[in-house]
Amino acid sequence: PLDEHDRIYFQSYSHIGIHEAMIKDRVRTDAYHTAIMQHQKFIEGKVVMDVGCGTGILSVFCARAGAKRVYAVDASEIAIQAREIVKANNLSDKIVVVHGRVEDVDVEEKVDVIISEWMGYMLLYESMLPSVLFARDKWLKPGGLILPSHATLFMAPVTNPERYEGSVDFWSDVYGINMSALVPLAKKFTSEEPSIETIGGENVISWPSVVKHINCYTFTPEEFKSITAKFKVSSMMLAPLHGFGLWFEVEFNGPAESSHNTPSSLNPLDIIQKKRRRGSDDAVLLSTAPEDEPTHWQQTILYFPDPVEVKQDQIIEGSITVSQSDENPRFLNINLECLYLAHGAFIGLKFYG
Ligand code: SAH
Repeated sequence: PLDEHDRIYFQSYSHIGIHEAMIKDRVRTDAYHTAIMQHQKFIEGKVVMDVGCGTGILSVFCARAGAKRVYAVDASEIAIQAREIVKANNLSDKIVVVHGRVEDVDVEEKVDVIISEWMGYMLLYESMLPSVLFARDKWLKPGGLILPSHATLFMAPVTNPERYEGSVDFWSDVYGINMSALVPLAKKFTSEEPSIETIGGENVISWPSVVKHINCYTFTPEEFKSITAKFKVSSMMLAPLHGFGLWFEVEFNGPAESSHNTPSSLNPLDIIQKKRRRGSDDAVLLSTAPEDEPTHWQQTILYFPDPVEVKQDQIIEGSITVSQSDENPRFLNINLECLYLAHGAFIGLKFYG
């Protein structure tokens, strides 16, 4: 008995294109594969639940890593193909495909491991995390492992003259025709909805600010409903500020490592140290940051209707609220207020992308 929003949502996952895009995203799929192999000692002989198994790829990785049983749960019709894939790979004795919402299904036992690829654009879009938290509270044994274990949403002011000029200034001369009448529409269009695009580190004009750090062992569905963060950053250059970029990272730590208290906001030094540790540190980090290899999540950019000149060392401050929409819990409302702007610019955005 799915409601209309969920029916549309799960139907979108019955198409092959979305699974192709996810599986071909090597940064994503390699990170999961590496994380599973790294936790092989823990997974061996244990029971796993794959929340939102899709094609079943992560369930197969876990079975190959030695899991005794994997419950592969998905409410989308793709579960039918997942079951065939499991059979074709002779894993029907280990992987049980359960077709239904994780909130509704019943399995025979509690599990030692929960694995899920729940992240949407700017981490929170699609609102799948509460389903993983539900599964944790109902099915995970105490001391169990959750992969990924931690997630961090970042934001930073961005400059992107090519993109802005290509969409807005473009209209001032089209084949020698002055089409400036379209400029207000172009500005409205550009700033109306978050834009999913790939930017580079050179587009980011300050250290990033942490919007939210989520510990998947302790975070609650209640906390997910509305997330607010203040930001205060300093521009590293003289540049036109076009808006803000959002991206995320997830980590794959064991239950033991999760007991340490990760700060809710990182200062630039923490971030530098973290990046330095990368490679030497064995914890797998899946990053969708502009300076890292692009992924299918790209970055999410909130454009202002008009750019604002910022000077080097200028403070840019404000707040952002990301909340689940009342009309459709799969939608997000984003409110961004940038207090620095002389005219008190305010952007209120709503989207489904
Ligand atoms: N694990 C696969 C697919 C990830 S996409 C992979 O890594 O390639 C997320 C999947 O979760 C989709 O197939 C979607 O249908 C499923 N899903 C989302 N919320 C769910 C819920 N509450 N119950 C069951 N499945 C869910």
